Amino acid sequence: MRGNTLYIVVPCYNEEEVLPETARRLGDKLKTLMNAGKISPRSRVLFVNDGSRDKTWEVITALHRDNPLLCGADLTRNRGHQNALLAGLMTAKDKADMVISMDADLQDDVDAADAMVDKYLAGADIVYGVRSSRKTDTFFKRTTAEAFYRMMDLLGAETVFNHADYRLMSKRALEGLSQFKEVNLFLRGIVPMIGYAADTVEYERGERFAGESKYPLKKMVAFALEGVTSLSVRPLRMITGLGFLVFFVSLIMIAYNVVRWATGNTVAGWASLACSVWFIGGLILLSLGVIGEYLGKLYLESKGRPRYLIREVLDGEPGERD
Ligand code: UDP
Ligand code: MG
Repeated sequence: MRGNTLYIVVPCYNEEEVLPETARRLGDKLKTLMNAGKISPRSRVLFVNDGSRDKTWEVITALHRDNPLLCGADLTRNRGHQNALLAGLMTAKDKADMVISMDADLQDDVDAADAMVDKYLAGADIVYGVRSSRKTDTFFKRTTAEAFYRMMDLLGAETVFNHADYRLMSKRALEGLSQFKEVNLFLRGIVPMIGYAADTVEYERGERFAGESKYPLKKMVAFALEGVTSLSVRPLRMITGLGFLVFFVSLIMIAYNVVRWATGNTVAGWASLACSVWFIGGLILLSLGVIGEYLGKLYLESKGRPRYLIREVLDGEPGERD
């Protein structure tokens, strides 16, 4: 039988306003699951402070003092949502049999965790939380997010539709994840590559409980680009395809021009010439850009810089602290 120690990992960036409420609900959830005998008493909530500039770490420290079920890990600086999440998962991996990751803002329905644990106990190694609707999102966020999933699909990256980072992973799935060494991290694309038995749980995504989104448009676009270029080389192939197409078109153009020349019509055609200069120029710049994107990734990967550094971890049994 597999063990049943659960860790809930929550990345937090400037979340002092929501943390007390999040901690209360997650603490209660742990207690209920423990009392039902589904998870072991060694289960914990692990808040990862992603270099917040507000009092987030102080709040986490205080929460830990009052309730040893609530633990914390403090990153040395802000490394972004995906890296903070990875730091939490890798810290929890050694102590837990299953880990649920969720956002700090209570948009993910805490009660879906029960179903996730049930599916783990029934044998699943990865359980994806899938949003059943996007009613509470703004029109903008909904359309951009759905366009993003479609585009990922089109470009050949395997992702789970309408799944963010609310999911359960078993210990061996996490060990699998730890072998993916890429620095350009896009977790929701990497997790399906791990394999094992996967399942899904549907939930309603609510509104942010307090505070504001830490994902402004700029970060969203960067995240989407990161996702595509980290998971798929299809854009590079598309350039090759485009190259062939343009070459083919230019052959036709040459034949056409020769015919025009032979029939004595050489002066006309300035417009088509000017157009093609722009067209080819634009195409070359675009292609160089895409290649540059991948080159930049290679550059970062080749350095093999650490994806996060942890300053301090608050964890342990009540008696063994300090
Ligand atoms: N987050 C983080 N580091 C960052 C940005 C965000 O750890 O640099 C965390 C944030 O605290 C939250 C989660 O990532 O727990 C998702 O962020 P948010 O809810 O702001 O994103 P949205 O739901 O608006 O997409
Ligand atoms: Mg949110």
